[in-house]
Amino acid sequence: MRYDVITLFPEFIESYFQSSIAKRAIENNIIQVNVHNPREYTKNKHKKVDDTPYGGGDGMVLMCQPIFDCYRDIEKLENHEFIMLSPQGEKYNQKTADELSKKEQIILLCGHYEGFDERIRLGLKPREISIGDFVLTGGELPALILIDSISRNIENFLGKEASFHNDSFSDGMEGLLEYPHYTKPREFEGMVVPEVLLNGNHKEIEEFRKKESLKRTKKRRPDLLK
Ligand code: SAM
Repeated sequence: MRYDVITLFPEFIESYFQSSIAKRAIENNIIQVNVHNPREYTKNKHKKVDDTPYGGGDGMVLMCQPIFDCYRDIEKLENHEFIMLSPQGEKYNQKTADELSKKEQIILLCGHYEGFDERIRLGLKPREISIGDFVLTGGELPALILIDSISRNIENFLGKEASFHNDSFSDGMEGLLEYPHYTKPREFEGMVVPEVLLNGNHKEIEEFRKKESLKRTKKRRPDLLK
């Protein structure tokens, strides 16, 4: 999978890939991440990427030219998706992450300040995605959330010791919340591990986990049962 991130703050994106699973995935060539800064595409003396809104009002608006030129300069693979991070977009979920993980390339456009000149939407026609009904300062955190959640679905991203198939919302969990986990010791501050997990009977363990997953989903997220 190849990601191309358009951002005014490349170091924000780059720092994420300097540790943990994401770093290993880059080293092992499972994902590739390119960062593009629209500021490098400006044609004005002061490398300005934003300006005041027509009609007045607070904040600065991202200008068309640097974003158009930056986007157009990115090599496009055949099976790519172009996404604008925006609180006004379709709400992101696991289903979208699964769908996007089948692409070859994802281009992510991060906003900042007051947002984008509307003609960026009209001219470049991105798919707009929101990570929830709240407003952040910039699109970098949402872009990283997409990259992380999409990449987990890619074979070998998590390494041999982990699997995404039984996580909450996944097909393996039939879209429900995952069951509770326990590890050593068997007792901690008076709380004990359920007996069924200790008896080595795989069928009983599977039934217990299914029941717990259902119980938890019913209590916390009844909407998922529909
Ligand atoms: N004025 C915009 C509005 O009210 O819709 C909000 C702009 S926000 C301060 C700046 C940038 O952060 C946005 O352009 C977008 O890229 C990103 N952003 C903020 N909240 C987001 C969310 N919930 N999902 C995705 N991106 C978000």
